[in-house]
Amino acid sequence: METIRHWIDNAPAAGADSDPTADVTNPATGEVTGQVTLASAQTVDQAVAAAKKAFPGWRDTSLSKRVQVLFRYRELLNQRKEELAALITAEHGKVLDDALGEVNRGLEVVEFACGIPHLLKGAYTENASTQVDVHSVRQPLGPVAIISPFNFPAMVPMWFFPIAIATGNTVVLKPSEKVPSAANWEAELWKEAGLPDGVFNVVHGGKESVDRLLEHPDIASVSFVGSTPIAQHVYRTGTAHGKRVQALGGAKNHMLVLPDADLDLAADNAINAGFGSAGERCMAISALVAVGEIADELVEKIAERARALRTGDGLRGCDMGPLVTSQHREKVAGYVDAGEREGATVVVDGRTGEFDADGSGFFLGPTLFDHVTPEMSIYTDEIFGPVLSVIRVDSYDEGLELINANPYGNGTAIFTNDGGAARRFQNEVTVGMIGVNVPIPVPMAYYSFGGWKNSLFGNSHAHGVEGVQFFTRGKVVTTRWANPSHGGINLGFPQND
Ligand code: NAD
Repeated sequence: METIRHWIDNAPAAGADSDPTADVTNPATGEVTGQVTLASAQTVDQAVAAAKKAFPGWRDTSLSKRVQVLFRYRELLNQRKEELAALITAEHGKVLDDALGEVNRGLEVVEFACGIPHLLKGAYTENASTQVDVHSVRQPLGPVAIISPFNFPAMVPMWFFPIAIATGNTVVLKPSEKVPSAANWEAELWKEAGLPDGVFNVVHGGKESVDRLLEHPDIASVSFVGSTPIAQHVYRTGTAHGKRVQALGGAKNHMLVLPDADLDLAADNAINAGFGSAGERCMAISALVAVGEIADELVEKIAERARALRTGDGLRGCDMGPLVTSQHREKVAGYVDAGEREGATVVVDGRTGEFDADGSGFFLGPTLFDHVTPEMSIYTDEIFGPVLSVIRVDSYDEGLELINANPYGNGTAIFTNDGGAARRFQNEVTVGMIGVNVPIPVPMAYYSFGGWKNSLFGNSHAHGVEGVQFFTRGKVVTTRWANPSHGGINLGFPQND
C-alpha cells in the first residue's frame, strides 16, 4: 500500500513521527489503496518555512525566467495529462473522460498565466505635475496558501497556483485528504519544469493543518474552495489574522426552462449538468425550474435519458462513476429517502439498479424527483450527488424569485429561444455565473470564476484578472527628477501645478 507524503522543498517529506494518517480509497472498488500522512502544525510550519525561504529568490527572478518555467510546465502537463487523469479517477471515482476534462480546464489557467508579463504591466503617466511622473507596479504577496476540495483534485488547485507562481509568490497547497495524489503529481511536475526548491509545497491534512495555515504569521493570503460552513470559517479566521482571503463555498444551481425552449436540448443538458461527475460539481444543476405546461413532457424526456445512463467503474467507459466515499454515498441516499418521505415524486430511483463494477464501490444511480417544493430538504440543502429535483412554477417571475431567494448564488442557466427573456434573466438574477442555453457556465481562464451570496466569501473571484489582482498588491510611485535650478522650501500639502 502506498504512503502519500507531503512535498516540501521539492522533495517528499514524511512530517513528524507522531502525525496521524488516513485511508485513501478507490471509490469504484471500495479498496483502501493508500495512507496519507496528515500534517500537524509543526509539519505545516516546515512547509511555510520552505516557502518563506524561497520567496525572495523567486520574487526577484526575472519575469522572462519565471515564464520559461511556466511554459515548460504547460508542455509537460499537456504531454502527460492522461497520467494525472488516471490518478483522479483512482481516488475520486469520476469517469476517465471527465477527469481529463478537468485537467484540460486547469491547463487553460496555466496557459493564461504564461501571459503574465502582459498582465503585470503597470501604468505610467509622464508629467502628471510639472516634471513629476507617476507609475504603478504590482508586486507578489509572499507565501500564499491554497486549500482545495475533493471534487476537482487537479483543476481547483490550478485555478490558483499557476497565477500565484507566475506573479512571484511561493505556495503551500493543502489539498483534500480524500484525493491527495494529484497534488503531489503536480508538485513533481513543477520540479521537472525547473521551479526552484520551496516555491511550490504540498501539505496533506484536515482541520488542524488548515487552522495552522489560517493563523500562520508568514502566510500572506488564503485561497479556499469547499463547502459553505468551512468557507465561512476560513474567511473569518483568515481575515482575523490579517490575511487576504478568497473563500469559495457551496452551491445549489438552478436551471430555468421557459415554455419556448427546445425541450430535447434542455433534457440533454439537464442530464449532463445534473449527473455528470455523479453530481459532485459545484456547478452541477441540482434544481430544474420548469415554467408552465412543459413540465410533464420535460420530466418524461429527462427520465428516459436518466434511465439509460450507465453507472459504474470510471475506467469502463460508463457515464457516471461512484460517490467519493461510502459516508457520502449514505448521506446522498439519505436525502433521496427524505425527498420521498417529504412527498416529492420519485420518477427515477437511483437507490436501486445495477452497477458496472467489481468490489464494493460507493455507487448510487441517478435520481429524478418531480413536484419538489422549496421547503423540502432535497431543495434547501446542497446534496452534492446525482439527484435532480424538478420544481414547477407558473411564470418566469415566479422562477426568478425562487432562484434569487436561494442563499447560494454560484451558477445558473436559462433555456429559452427568446433573446429578450434571456437578456432580462442575466440582468436580474443574483448569481455569479450564468449560462444561456449552456448548462455548466464555467468561465474561461481569462475571465474570473466565482459566485455570489453564500457561494463566495471575500470579494475576489478565482483566475482571470481578478486572480492576478488577488495574488499581487499595487504600488504607485511618484517621481521627480528636478531640474537642477529648481528648489525651495514649501511646507504646504503637495498639489498639482
Ligand atoms: P469541505 O468543505 O469538506 O473541504 C474543503 C477543504 O477544507 C478540504 O481541504 C478539507 O480538508 C478542509 N476542511 C474540511 N473540514 C474542515 C474544517 N472543519 N476546518 C478546516 N478545514 C476543513 O468540502 P469538500 O467536501 O471537499 O468539497 C465539496 C464542497 O466544495 C461542496 O460544497 C462544493 O459545492 C464545494 N465546491 C465549491 C466550488 C466553488 O467554486 N464554489 C468548487 C468546488 C467545490
